[in-house]
Amino acid sequence: MTLAMAESIYTKAALCVDAAEFRRENPDADAIFHDQFLQLMVAEGCPFNCTYCSERLAFPNFRSFPEADLVAAATAKMRETGHYNMVMIADCLGEYGKDIGSSLVKLVRRLADAEPRVKVALSNFHPVNLYTELETYSALIREGRIRHMNLPIQSANDRVLRLMARQYTAAQLEHCFNRLKELNFTEFDTHVIVGFPGETDEEFEDTVRFLLKHRPNHVLLSQFMGCEDTPAMRLPNHVDAAVAERRAHSAEARFRDAGILCNSEGSEFIRERLRRLNQAQTR
Ligand code: SF4
Repeated sequence: MTLAMAESIYTKAALCVDAAEFRRENPDADAIFHDQFLQLMVAEGCPFNCTYCSERLAFPNFRSFPEADLVAAATAKMRETGHYNMVMIADCLGEYGKDIGSSLVKLVRRLADAEPRVKVALSNFHPVNLYTELETYSALIREGRIRHMNLPIQSANDRVLRLMARQYTAAQLEHCFNRLKELNFTEFDTHVIVGFPGETDEEFEDTVRFLLKHRPNHVLLSQFMGCEDTPAMRLPNHVDAAVAERRAHSAEARFRDAGILCNSEGSEFIRERLRRLNQAQTR
C-alpha cells in the first residue's frame, strides 16, 4: 500500500456525535444525518436501471475502489479523529465489490479486523442487496456492527415496483423487514416515491400500510419528478401533481400520528432547512 493510493480515497471527518443535538445547540448550523459519521466513499456509479433515475445518466461507469485502499484510508481517519462510526457512501452501496471479486460484507469485515471499534451506517442500500445476502447482513447486525441502514424501498406494491424496475417484490421487502424486526434492529429509514406514473391511490396505500407496519424511524417522501430521458417519462397515466400532493400530505399526517418522522418535498421542515441554508450562504 502506498500513501498515494490511500490518498485517492474520499474520507471526511465527522462534524459531531449527534446531528440532532448539534442542531439544537447550533441553531444556525445545518448538520445533516451523515455529519455524525466519518464518511467513506467506497464506489461510484450504479449498475441498476431504475426507470425513473435521471442521476445514473450522469454517473461514471460503476467502479468499486480497492478494499485495501479503503481499509487503509478509513483506519487512518478513524485513528486521527478518534471517531469510529462510519457511513459508507456510494451511488449504489450494496453492489460494492461485485466488479473486483469482493463484497460489501467482506469490506466491513476487513475494516473490523483492522479497527474493531468501527461501526458502520449503510447509505443508499438497495433492498435487493439486503434480500440476496440477508443471512450475512443479519450476522453483522447480531454482532452490533451495523449502526444504521438507509433502505430506499420507493414502493411496496408489486406492479409499481415492476414499473420502476426495482428488482424486488413486496413479499421480499416483507421478508427483509420482518427479519430486521426479529433482530430488534430499528435503526433504518427509507425513501418513497409518490405518484409514480400509473400508480393508483390503492397502490400507494400498499406502501403506506407497509411503512406503518414496519415503522422506519424516518420516511422521505418525494413526488415523482419526470426527467425527459428516462423510461418512466414514457409510461402512460402520469399522476396529476395535485393527486400526488394529496397522497403525500395524507401519508405524512398518518406517519406523524404514528410517531414516524416524515419529510416530504415542500414540507415545513424542508422549507425551514432551505431557508437556513440560504441564510448561511448569504452571510
Ligand atoms: S439504484 Fe439508485 S442510483 Fe441506481 S439506477 Fe436505481 S435509483 Fe438510480
